Amino acid sequence: MKTVSLVIPLYNEESVVERFYAELTASIDPLGYDFEIIFVNDGSKDGTQLKLESLARQDERLGIIELSRNFGHQAALCAGLENANGDFVITMDGDGQHPPTLITEMLALAESGYDIVMTQRVDSGKESWFKRSTSGLFYRLLNKISDTNTLPGGADFRLISRQVLENLLGMPEYHRFLRGMISWLGFRSVILPFTTAPRLAGESKYSLKKMFRLASDAVFSFSLAPLYIGMSVGVVFLFLALFEAIYVLSFWVSGRSHLLAPGWSSLMFMLLIVAGVLMILLGFIGVYVGYIFQEVKNRPVFVIKSKYLGSGKVETEGEEEI
Ligand code: UDP
Ligand code: MG
Repeated sequence: MKTVSLVIPLYNEESVVERFYAELTASIDPLGYDFEIIFVNDGSKDGTQLKLESLARQDERLGIIELSRNFGHQAALCAGLENANGDFVITMDGDGQHPPTLITEMLALAESGYDIVMTQRVDSGKESWFKRSTSGLFYRLLNKISDTNTLPGGADFRLISRQVLENLLGMPEYHRFLRGMISWLGFRSVILPFTTAPRLAGESKYSLKKMFRLASDAVFSFSLAPLYIGMSVGVVFLFLALFEAIYVLSFWVSGRSHLLAPGWSSLMFMLLIVAGVLMILLGFIGVYVGYIFQEVKNRPVFVIKSKYLGSGKVETEGEEEI
């Protein structure tokens, strides 16, 4: 029997864990696969860990990875992926928004030869206007400035084959935007549309700050465009400076130099603009240098506090790396 690993990150989800688990098992129990359910507790401050532990006592398919603090959704997903042993690996949110009923269809597509089964959110009309419009705008911009195509409305609800997983784990970068990284890898993929269900309980754990960080990780790790915007603007200003020099010189050549205004205001103007451009450019360079700095340090993306992989399960080889 083929094995399927489910990787589910949770952050302060004590109010949904049990209901989600019930929904999940109702969908997967009838399927003819050997399931491994890996919950990643991303440094929850509430009772999520206790709830998970009590579930793990009843179900030996359950594994819990507890991170030492909140590392964020993408890092939590990576922690689960590194510990997944299945022939197929499915990542999904643990708040019920990613319907477990879709797993059957995902597995059928995987069996028919697809290496990646992506899902795409179809507008349910219930998402907030803010989330919808920022997400739409973000993907349009990202696809314009990056060479890797990222699916608009793509969710981190997807199935990948063992082979894709191995390749993904071979990308040791610190800033992770999994949607982009998986698109970058290639392989045979298919898109499965779905309507997001409402959250089972609780609030979204994706704060504005976390959304912004994800967007910046995506832009700065997948595109060098911001660097070129700064450079292009800089070039335009160099040309302006050249034209200004020619203009001023023409007064001197034609002997009308006495007509030239003292020029203090234009000088100040140019100075401020040039300084502004330089600052923007330096800012972009700073961001990339920051990214390089973090990559060079080769810091782990997450730190595991405790690991329980269900009874009778072998520890993964990923262990030594952590
Ligand atoms: N999550 C996480 N760490 C975080 C934020 C979120 O592990 O720092 C988990 C969260 O518990 C949920 C999933 O990631 O299972 C998606 O988060 P959420 O539902 O809050 O995001 P939204 O659906 O609102 O975009
Ligand atoms: Mg959610």
